[in-house]
Amino acid sequence: MCGSGKNSADREDAAGETDMNESKTRRGTITFLAGCMFSGKTTELLRRLAAYPPGSSVVFKHVTDRRYCANAVVSHDGKTWPAVPITAAGEVLPHVEPGIRMVAVEEAHFFDDRVIEVAQELADRGVNVILTALDCDSWGRPIAIAQRLLDLADEPIIKQTVCARCGGVGCRSQRLTPIIDGNMVGGSESYEPRCEACLQPPPEPPPEMA
Ligand SMILES: [Zn+2]
Repeated sequence: MCGSGKNSADREDAAGETDMNESKTRRGTITFLAGCMFSGKTTELLRRLAAYPPGSSVVFKHVTDRRYCANAVVSHDGKTWPAVPITAAGEVLPHVEPGIRMVAVEEAHFFDDRVIEVAQELADRGVNVILTALDCDSWGRPIAIAQRLLDLADEPIIKQTVCARCGGVGCRSQRLTPIIDGNMVGGSESYEPRCEACLQPPPEPPPEMA
């Protein structure tokens, strides 16, 4: 009899555990695609976006990034995906409606630290988050927000390509044109990938690090 009483208590415990598990939301994953210009970050992002059903993902980009198109993410090989242009990371959450399973933030280095809190909050809600960002500036200095995202991400990925000068490991963004009024935004007319040894920092003084 004692035995059956114990079993009954065990069953209650097991039932309680099941209820708790059912009420838990699966945590989403945070993927961070870091790398220099032309390292394939956006191509990889678009490949992953394609795995989600239509209407279950939303992509954000900073309004400053008007290369190719203001309302779309465009990879250097010409593929596009609609994107919501925003000025601050705090604008992301109101756009994330129920049913959204994946949120992407392109070029996260244009945003302040709030983008990290937003990514964590979405993951806590069960949404998968993918962010892309440069990991180094044109002077070869690590970008702080990228370093933080590399530490934070469940899946940190550093993309690399081929140095346009020597064929070595392309991991830096070589500025090719003068920097006007501190505006660093540019495409293939303004940048090419280089290895660390071939990187020639711009003559302009580097901006203060955030
Ligand atoms: Zn090189």
